[in-house]
Amino acid sequence: MTQDLIEGAAEFKHYHYDGDNTLMSELFKAGQNPKYFIISCIDSRCNPGTIFRASPGIFLSHKAMGAIVRPYKQGTALSAALQFALSYNKVETVIVLGHTQCGAIKALAEEIDDPEISSFVSVAQNALNKAKDCCTDHAEVIAKTEEETILTSMDNLKHYPSVAQALKDKTIKLKSWQFDMETGFLREYSETNQSFEILPVTVKTKDGRKI
Ligand SMILES: [Zn+2]
Repeated sequence: MTQDLIEGAAEFKHYHYDGDNTLMSELFKAGQNPKYFIISCIDSRCNPGTIFRASPGIFLSHKAMGAIVRPYKQGTALSAALQFALSYNKVETVIVLGHTQCGAIKALAEEIDDPEISSFVSVAQNALNKAKDCCTDHAEVIAKTEEETILTSMDNLKHYPSVAQALKDKTIKLKSWQFDMETGFLREYSETNQSFEILPVTVKTKDGRKI
């Protein structure tokens, strides 16, 4: 049943341990020095490890339904992880990575009858209220709620003591990102334009093509 995962781990070992690639042994000996901390949804289709194609050691990761950041409370999984990331690992950028077609946001907007889920996603109720104020079409309300939830999470994030201190010390940057699952584009919230905008980028493929 888990053969696909076992084969994936074997492939990872082949490329990162058995050949000339010494990155993992260097990370093992020297320890990690990640640049980013990414807060993302639990959705299986937009795992940051997959969509950013990042090498091992590049980012620390925290997952929650809808990439929702709850208001600060000491001793939560996220507050401890951020403390570790910012006080002991000197992470430079913290990213809230939401995505389109998010089940958590749909559950919020459609008032799912499941106390375990609704008690968590209701943290983003303000985001839904804002969306309802500006849109009437159901799909538009959901899309707007997905964006507003990222901004709500970012607002909450700024009140975590480790983040507030790092902002005061000017040692980190915060990014509000959204992965568009349908198109594959990555969008960033622009404070100036008050909207999510596609991040322009050109990359070179292995065969030298620019895409
Ligand atoms: Zn999601």
